Amino acid sequence: MSDFLPYGRQSVNDDDIAAVAEVLRGDWLTTGPAVTRFEADLAEHTGGTPAVAVTSGTAALHVAYAAAGIGPGDEVVTTPLTFVATAATAALHGAKVVFADVEPDTGNLDPAAAHAAVTDRTKVLAAVDYAGHPAELDQLRKVADSVGALLLEDAAHSLGSSWRGRPVGSLADLTTFSFFATKNLTTAEGGAVVSPSAELVERARAFRNHGLVRDRARQRYPDEGGWHQEVHAFGLNYRLPDVLCALGSSQLRRLWAFKQRRAEIHARYDEGLRDVPGVLTPVCRAEADPMWHLYPLRVLDGRRRALFDHLRANGIGVQVNYIPAYWHPVFEDLGYRRGLCPNAEAYYAQELSLPLFADLSDADVDRVIDTVRSFFGV
Ligand SMILES: *Cc1c(COP(=O)(O)O)cnc(C)c1O
Repeated sequence: MSDFLPYGRQSVNDDDIAAVAEVLRGDWLTTGPAVTRFEADLAEHTGGTPAVAVTSGTAALHVAYAAAGIGPGDEVVTTPLTFVATAATAALHGAKVVFADVEPDTGNLDPAAAHAAVTDRTKVLAAVDYAGHPAELDQLRKVADSVGALLLEDAAHSLGSSWRGRPVGSLADLTTFSFFATKNLTTAEGGAVVSPSAELVERARAFRNHGLVRDRARQRYPDEGGWHQEVHAFGLNYRLPDVLCALGSSQLRRLWAFKQRRAEIHARYDEGLRDVPGVLTPVCRAEADPMWHLYPLRVLDGRRRALFDHLRANGIGVQVNYIPAYWHPVFEDLGYRRGLCPNAEAYYAQELSLPLFADLSDADVDRVIDTVRSFFGV
Protein backbone atom coordinates (compact mmCIF):
# COMPACT_ATOMS: atom_id res chain seq x y z
CA MET A 1 0.00 0.00 0.00
CA SER A 2 1.28 3.47 -0.85
CA ASP A 3 1.37 6.47 1.48
CA PHE A 4 -1.79 7.70 3.08
CA LEU A 5 -3.40 10.45 1.04
CA PRO A 6 -5.30 12.99 3.17
CA TYR A 7 -8.57 14.46 1.87
CA GLY A 8 -7.38 18.00 2.46
CA ARG A 9 -4.02 19.55 3.22
CA GLN A 10 -2.45 22.98 3.49
CA SER A 11 0.02 24.30 0.92
CA VAL A 12 2.68 26.26 2.80
CA ASN A 13 5.75 27.50 0.91
CA ASP A 14 8.98 29.32 1.82
CA ASP A 15 7.37 32.74 1.29
CA ASP A 16 4.69 31.84 3.86
CA ILE A 17 7.35 30.71 6.33
CA ALA A 18 9.40 33.90 5.77
CA ALA A 19 6.31 36.08 6.30
CA VAL A 20 5.58 34.40 9.63
CA ALA A 21 9.23 34.52 10.74
CA GLU A 22 9.35 38.23 10.00
CA VAL A 23 6.47 38.88 12.39
CA LEU A 24 8.06 36.70 15.07
CA ARG A 25 11.21 38.84 14.89
CA GLY A 26 9.24 42.09 15.11
CA ASP A 27 7.48 44.07 17.85
CA TRP A 28 3.94 42.81 17.42
CA LEU A 29 2.77 39.27 17.99
CA THR A 30 -0.91 40.13 18.02
CA THR A 31 -3.16 43.00 16.89
CA GLY A 32 -0.49 44.96 15.09
CA PRO A 33 0.01 46.06 11.48
CA ALA A 34 -0.29 42.56 9.99
CA VAL A 35 -3.96 42.39 11.03
CA THR A 36 -4.83 45.62 9.23
CA ARG A 37 -2.84 44.48 6.20
CA PHE A 38 -4.52 41.07 6.06
CA GLU A 39 -7.97 42.65 6.33
CA ALA A 40 -7.12 44.98 3.44
CA ASP A 41 -5.62 42.13 1.38
CA LEU A 42 -8.70 40.02 1.98
CA ALA A 43 -10.99 42.87 0.89
CA GLU A 44 -9.17 42.87 -2.46
CA HIS A 45 -10.53 39.36 -2.99
CA THR A 46 -14.10 40.11 -1.89
CA GLY A 47 -14.94 42.96 -4.24
CA GLY A 48 -13.63 45.55 -1.79
CA THR A 49 -15.95 44.50 1.04
CA PRO A 50 -14.43 45.40 4.44
CA ALA A 51 -13.19 42.47 6.54
CA VAL A 52 -12.79 41.69 10.23
CA ALA A 53 -10.25 38.93 10.93
CA VAL A 54 -11.14 36.51 13.73
CA THR A 55 -9.76 33.30 15.22
CA SER A 56 -11.80 30.72 13.26
CA GLY A 57 -14.70 30.19 10.91
CA THR A 58 -16.78 29.30 13.95
CA ALA A 59 -15.80 32.59 15.62
CA ALA A 60 -16.71 34.37 12.37
CA LEU A 61 -20.20 32.89 12.49
CA HIS A 62 -20.59 33.72 16.20
CA VAL A 63 -19.43 37.28 15.52
CA ALA A 64 -21.65 37.66 12.43
CA TYR A 65 -24.74 36.57 14.35
CA ALA A 66 -23.77 38.95 17.17
CA ALA A 67 -23.46 41.79 14.65
CA ALA A 68 -26.91 40.85 13.32
CA GLY A 69 -28.16 41.20 16.89
CA ILE A 70 -29.90 37.83 17.15
CA GLY A 71 -31.16 36.57 20.48
CA PRO A 72 -33.97 34.66 22.17
CA GLY A 73 -37.23 34.93 20.21
CA ASP A 74 -35.43 35.33 16.89
CA GLU A 75 -35.22 32.65 14.21
CA VAL A 76 -32.32 31.78 11.94
CA VAL A 77 -33.23 29.81 8.82
CA THR A 78 -30.38 27.69 7.51
CA THR A 79 -29.34 24.50 5.73
CA PRO A 80 -28.71 21.23 7.56
CA LEU A 81 -26.04 20.21 5.01
CA THR A 82 -23.21 22.02 6.76
CA PHE A 83 -20.69 21.79 9.52
CA VAL A 84 -22.59 22.04 12.80
CA ALA A 85 -21.06 25.46 13.62
CA THR A 86 -23.37 27.27 11.15
CA ALA A 87 -26.32 26.32 13.36
CA ALA A 88 -24.59 25.94 16.74
CA THR A 89 -23.35 29.54 16.87
CA ALA A 90 -26.89 30.83 16.25
CA ALA A 91 -28.22 28.54 19.00
CA LEU A 92 -25.53 29.84 21.39
CA HIS A 93 -26.99 33.34 20.96
CA GLY A 94 -30.35 31.92 22.09
CA ALA A 95 -31.98 32.07 18.66
CA LYS A 96 -34.15 29.26 17.31
CA VAL A 97 -32.60 27.42 14.36
CA VAL A 98 -35.03 26.52 11.58
CA PHE A 99 -33.68 24.05 9.03
CA ALA A 100 -34.82 24.35 5.42
CA ASP A 101 -34.04 21.68 2.84
CA VAL A 102 -31.39 21.74 0.12
CA GLU A 103 -31.48 21.38 -3.67
CA PRO A 104 -30.97 17.71 -4.45
CA ASP A 105 -28.13 18.31 -6.93
CA THR A 106 -25.96 21.14 -5.54
CA GLY A 107 -26.65 20.44 -1.86
CA ASN A 108 -27.18 24.18 -1.37
CA LEU A 109 -30.09 25.78 0.49
CA ASP A 110 -33.19 25.59 -1.72
CA PRO A 111 -34.74 29.08 -2.13
CA ALA A 112 -38.26 27.58 -2.24
CA ALA A 113 -37.68 25.70 1.02
CA ALA A 114 -36.17 28.83 2.57
CA HIS A 115 -39.18 30.84 1.42
CA ALA A 116 -41.51 28.35 3.11
CA ALA A 117 -39.45 28.46 6.33
CA VAL A 118 -39.11 32.22 6.94
CA THR A 119 -41.51 34.13 9.20
CA ASP A 120 -41.61 37.62 10.65
CA ARG A 121 -39.41 36.25 13.45
CA THR A 122 -36.63 35.35 10.99
CA LYS A 123 -33.72 37.68 11.60
CA VAL A 124 -31.05 35.91 9.54
CA LEU A 125 -31.20 33.66 6.49
CA ALA A 126 -27.92 31.73 6.53
CA ALA A 127 -26.82 29.94 3.36
CA VAL A 128 -23.71 27.80 2.91
CA ASP A 129 -21.72 27.61 -0.33
CA TYR A 130 -21.46 23.84 -0.20
CA ALA A 131 -18.19 22.45 -1.65
CA GLY A 132 -17.30 25.98 -2.85
CA HIS A 133 -20.29 26.31 -5.19
CA PRO A 134 -22.18 29.52 -4.31
CA ALA A 135 -25.77 29.14 -3.17
CA GLU A 136 -28.65 30.69 -5.19
CA LEU A 137 -27.82 34.11 -3.81
CA ASP A 138 -30.15 36.26 -5.92
CA GLN A 139 -33.21 34.22 -5.00
CA LEU A 140 -32.14 33.89 -1.37
CA ARG A 141 -31.68 37.67 -1.23
CA LYS A 142 -35.33 38.09 -2.25
CA VAL A 143 -36.45 35.59 0.39
CA ALA A 144 -34.46 37.42 3.09
CA ASP A 145 -35.74 40.83 1.98
CA SER A 146 -39.36 39.59 1.98
CA VAL A 147 -39.25 39.29 5.79
CA GLY A 148 -36.67 41.98 6.52
CA ALA A 149 -33.99 39.42 7.47
CA LEU A 150 -30.26 39.74 6.89
CA LEU A 151 -28.64 37.38 4.37
CA LEU A 152 -25.60 35.58 5.79
CA GLU A 153 -23.32 33.50 3.58
CA ASP A 154 -21.20 30.89 5.32
CA ALA A 155 -18.38 30.93 2.78
CA ALA A 156 -16.04 28.62 4.70
CA HIS A 157 -15.71 26.62 1.45
CA SER A 158 -15.92 29.39 -1.11
CA LEU A 159 -13.29 32.10 -0.71
CA GLY A 160 -12.35 32.85 -4.33
CA SER A 161 -15.67 31.76 -5.84
CA SER A 162 -18.06 34.06 -7.66
CA TRP A 163 -21.72 34.16 -8.65
CA ARG A 164 -22.81 35.95 -11.83
CA GLY A 165 -19.33 37.47 -11.98
CA ARG A 166 -19.56 38.94 -8.47
CA PRO A 167 -17.03 37.65 -5.91
CA VAL A 168 -18.14 35.83 -2.77
CA GLY A 169 -17.95 38.40 0.01
CA SER A 170 -19.75 41.06 -2.04
CA LEU A 171 -23.08 39.24 -2.24
CA ALA A 172 -24.55 38.91 1.25
CA ASP A 173 -25.08 41.27 4.19
CA LEU A 174 -22.59 39.19 6.18
CA THR A 175 -20.13 36.68 4.75
CA THR A 176 -17.99 34.42 6.91
CA PHE A 177 -14.77 32.64 5.97
CA SER A 178 -12.70 29.91 7.61
CA PHE A 179 -8.93 29.66 7.25
CA PHE A 180 -8.61 26.24 8.87
CA ALA A 181 -5.76 24.09 7.53
CA THR A 182 -7.86 22.21 4.96
CA LYS A 183 -9.79 25.20 3.57
CA ASN A 184 -9.03 27.04 0.32
CA LEU A 185 -6.52 29.24 2.13
CA THR A 186 -5.13 28.83 5.61
CA THR A 187 -3.87 30.73 8.64
CA ALA A 188 -3.73 27.43 10.63
CA GLU A 189 -6.81 28.50 12.58
CA GLY A 190 -8.57 31.66 11.52
CA GLY A 191 -11.57 33.24 9.92
CA ALA A 192 -13.13 36.52 8.90
CA VAL A 193 -16.44 38.33 8.71
CA VAL A 194 -16.96 40.67 5.79
CA SER A 195 -19.83 43.08 5.29
CA PRO A 196 -20.66 46.03 3.05
CA SER A 197 -22.47 47.63 6.01
CA ALA A 198 -20.31 49.97 8.11
CA GLU A 199 -22.62 49.39 11.06
CA LEU A 200 -22.35 45.59 10.89
CA VAL A 201 -18.56 45.82 10.54
CA GLU A 202 -18.42 48.10 13.58
CA ARG A 203 -20.50 45.67 15.63
CA ALA A 204 -18.36 42.74 14.47
CA ARG A 205 -15.16 44.57 15.47
CA ALA A 206 -16.60 45.35 18.89
CA PHE A 207 -17.71 41.75 19.55
CA ARG A 208 -14.25 40.47 18.48
CA ASN A 209 -12.64 42.58 21.19
CA HIS A 210 -14.82 42.23 24.33
CA GLY A 211 -17.14 45.02 23.19
CA LEU A 212 -14.53 47.54 24.36
CA VAL A 213 -15.18 51.19 23.42
CA ARG A 214 -11.97 53.23 23.28
CA ASP A 215 -13.27 56.14 21.21
CA ARG A 216 -13.86 58.97 23.73
CA ALA A 217 -16.61 60.47 21.62
CA ARG A 218 -18.66 57.32 22.16
CA GLN A 219 -17.86 56.76 25.84
CA ARG A 220 -20.36 57.36 28.61
CA TYR A 221 -17.60 58.59 30.94
CA PRO A 222 -15.05 60.18 28.56
CA ASP A 223 -13.21 62.18 31.24
CA GLU A 224 -12.14 59.24 33.38
CA GLY A 225 -8.52 59.37 32.15
CA GLY A 226 -6.22 58.24 29.38
CA TRP A 227 -6.46 54.59 30.40
CA HIS A 228 -10.22 54.45 30.23
CA GLN A 229 -12.19 52.01 28.11
CA GLU A 230 -15.80 50.89 28.45
CA VAL A 231 -17.91 47.87 27.58
CA HIS A 232 -21.35 48.77 26.22
CA ALA A 233 -22.31 45.27 25.05
CA PHE A 234 -20.69 41.93 25.90
CA GLY A 235 -18.16 40.50 23.51
CA LEU A 236 -15.37 37.93 23.42
CA ASN A 237 -11.71 37.74 22.49
CA TYR A 238 -11.69 36.50 18.90
CA ARG A 239 -8.63 38.47 17.74
CA LEU A 240 -6.53 36.79 15.05
CA PRO A 241 -2.86 37.45 15.89
CA ASP A 242 -0.34 39.16 13.60
CA VAL A 243 1.62 35.92 13.22
CA LEU A 244 -1.36 34.23 11.57
CA CYS A 245 -2.49 37.30 9.62
CA ALA A 246 0.97 37.44 8.00
CA LEU A 247 0.49 33.83 6.89
CA GLY A 248 -2.93 34.79 5.51
CA SER A 249 -1.59 37.73 3.49
CA SER A 250 1.17 35.57 2.08
CA GLN A 251 -1.27 32.77 1.19
CA LEU A 252 -3.62 35.23 -0.53
CA ARG A 253 -0.94 35.88 -3.17
CA ARG A 254 -1.49 32.32 -4.35
CA LEU A 255 -5.29 32.27 -4.11
CA TRP A 256 -5.79 32.30 -7.88
CA ALA A 257 -3.12 29.63 -8.36
CA PHE A 258 -4.90 27.51 -5.73
CA LYS A 259 -8.20 28.05 -7.54
CA GLN A 260 -6.66 27.03 -10.85
CA ARG A 261 -5.14 23.85 -9.45
CA ARG A 262 -8.33 22.89 -7.59
CA ALA A 263 -10.27 23.36 -10.85
CA GLU A 264 -7.82 21.09 -12.71
CA ILE A 265 -8.15 18.35 -10.11
CA HIS A 266 -11.95 18.70 -10.08
CA ALA A 267 -12.03 18.38 -13.87
CA ARG A 268 -9.72 15.36 -13.77
CA TYR A 269 -12.06 13.59 -11.33
CA ASP A 270 -15.05 14.48 -13.54
CA GLU A 271 -13.30 13.05 -16.55
CA GLY A 272 -12.17 9.90 -14.78
CA LEU A 273 -15.44 9.11 -12.99
CA ARG A 274 -18.28 10.45 -15.14
CA ASP A 275 -18.91 7.15 -16.90
CA VAL A 276 -18.78 4.97 -13.78
CA PRO A 277 -22.18 3.39 -13.23
CA GLY A 278 -23.23 3.80 -9.60
CA VAL A 279 -21.88 7.32 -8.99
CA LEU A 280 -22.92 10.90 -9.72
CA THR A 281 -20.29 13.59 -10.24
CA PRO A 282 -20.92 17.15 -8.95
CA VAL A 283 -22.99 19.69 -10.90
CA CYS A 284 -22.19 23.36 -11.52
CA ARG A 285 -24.75 26.11 -12.24
CA ALA A 286 -24.09 28.44 -15.19
CA GLU A 287 -24.03 31.42 -12.78
CA ALA A 288 -21.32 29.88 -10.59
CA ASP A 289 -17.54 30.10 -10.91
CA PRO A 290 -16.55 28.01 -7.89
CA MET A 291 -13.26 27.70 -6.18
CA TRP A 292 -13.80 24.03 -5.43
CA HIS A 293 -13.18 23.15 -1.80
CA LEU A 294 -14.63 19.63 -1.94
CA TYR A 295 -15.19 17.03 -4.61
CA PRO A 296 -18.50 15.58 -3.43
CA LEU A 297 -19.00 12.28 -5.23
CA ARG A 298 -22.46 10.75 -4.85
CA VAL A 299 -22.48 6.99 -4.41
CA LEU A 300 -25.74 5.31 -5.37
CA ASP A 301 -27.44 2.06 -4.35
CA GLY A 302 -26.46 2.27 -0.69
CA ARG A 303 -22.79 1.59 -1.44
CA ARG A 304 -21.31 4.79 0.05
CA ARG A 305 -20.13 3.13 3.25
CA ALA A 306 -18.54 0.22 1.39
CA LEU A 307 -16.69 2.60 -0.95
CA PHE A 308 -15.62 4.76 2.01
CA ASP A 309 -14.15 1.68 3.74
CA HIS A 310 -12.53 0.47 0.49
CA LEU A 311 -10.80 3.83 -0.12
CA ARG A 312 -9.69 4.16 3.50
CA ALA A 313 -8.33 0.60 3.41
CA ASN A 314 -6.34 1.65 0.35
CA GLY A 315 -4.84 4.64 2.13
CA ILE A 316 -7.13 7.27 0.62
CA GLY A 317 -8.45 9.75 3.19
CA VAL A 318 -12.01 10.31 2.10
CA GLN A 319 -14.54 12.20 4.23
CA VAL A 320 -18.29 12.60 4.46
CA ASN A 321 -19.65 16.17 4.41
CA TYR A 322 -22.00 16.37 6.26
CA ILE A 323 -24.22 14.54 8.67
CA PRO A 324 -27.42 16.67 8.66
CA ALA A 325 -26.84 19.19 11.45
CA TYR A 326 -30.08 18.34 13.27
CA TRP A 327 -29.04 14.67 13.55
CA HIS A 328 -26.52 15.72 16.19
CA PRO A 329 -27.90 14.63 19.56
CA VAL A 330 -27.82 18.22 20.82
CA PHE A 331 -30.50 19.12 18.24
CA GLU A 332 -32.29 15.79 18.64
CA ASP A 333 -32.61 16.54 22.36
CA LEU A 334 -34.22 19.88 21.45
CA GLY A 335 -36.92 18.02 19.50
CA TYR A 336 -35.56 18.06 15.93
CA ARG A 337 -36.49 14.80 14.22
CA ARG A 338 -35.03 12.78 11.37
CA GLY A 339 -37.00 13.18 8.17
CA LEU A 340 -37.17 16.98 8.50
CA CYS A 341 -35.16 17.69 5.33
CA PRO A 342 -35.37 14.65 3.03
CA ASN A 343 -33.10 16.05 0.29
CA ALA A 344 -30.31 16.79 2.77
CA GLU A 345 -30.67 13.33 4.31
CA ALA A 346 -30.58 11.66 0.87
CA TYR A 347 -27.56 13.75 -0.10
CA TYR A 348 -25.77 12.80 3.11
CA ALA A 349 -26.52 9.12 2.55
CA GLN A 350 -24.71 9.22 -0.81
CA GLU A 351 -21.95 11.77 -0.28
CA LEU A 352 -18.23 10.97 -0.27
CA SER A 353 -15.60 13.75 -0.49
CA LEU A 354 -12.53 12.71 -2.47
CA PRO A 355 -9.09 14.21 -1.72
CA LEU A 356 -8.84 17.75 -3.09
CA PHE A 357 -6.06 20.21 -2.30
CA ALA A 358 -3.66 22.35 -4.30
CA ASP A 359 -0.57 20.15 -3.87
CA LEU A 360 -2.30 16.95 -4.97
CA SER A 361 -0.45 15.52 -7.98
CA ASP A 362 -2.11 14.17 -11.12
CA ALA A 363 -0.71 10.76 -10.19
CA ASP A 364 -2.47 10.97 -6.79
CA VAL A 365 -5.73 11.94 -8.50
CA ASP A 366 -5.38 9.02 -10.91
CA ARG A 367 -4.73 6.66 -8.04
CA VAL A 368 -8.00 7.79 -6.41
CA ILE A 369 -9.86 7.41 -9.71
CA ASP A 370 -8.42 3.93 -10.30
CA THR A 371 -9.31 2.82 -6.78
CA VAL A 372 -12.91 4.02 -7.21
CA ARG A 373 -13.16 2.37 -10.62
CA SER A 374 -11.79 -0.94 -9.38
CA PHE A 375 -14.38 -0.93 -6.58
CA PHE A 376 -17.09 -0.77 -9.24
CA GLY A 377 -15.27 -3.29 -11.45
CA VAL A 378 -14.80 -0.87 -14.36
C1 LIG B 1 -14.92 24.72 8.44
C2 LIG B 1 -16.31 25.22 8.49
C3 LIG B 1 -16.78 26.04 9.53
C4 LIG B 1 -15.98 26.32 10.76
O1 LIG B 1 -14.73 26.86 10.53
P1 LIG B 1 -13.55 26.63 11.59
O2 LIG B 1 -12.49 27.56 11.11
O3 LIG B 1 -13.15 25.20 11.52
O4 LIG B 1 -14.07 27.01 12.93
C5 LIG B 1 -18.05 26.55 9.43
N1 LIG B 1 -18.86 26.26 8.40
C6 LIG B 1 -18.46 25.45 7.40
C7 LIG B 1 -19.39 25.17 6.27
C8 LIG B 1 -17.19 24.88 7.42
O5 LIG B 1 -16.80 24.06 6.45
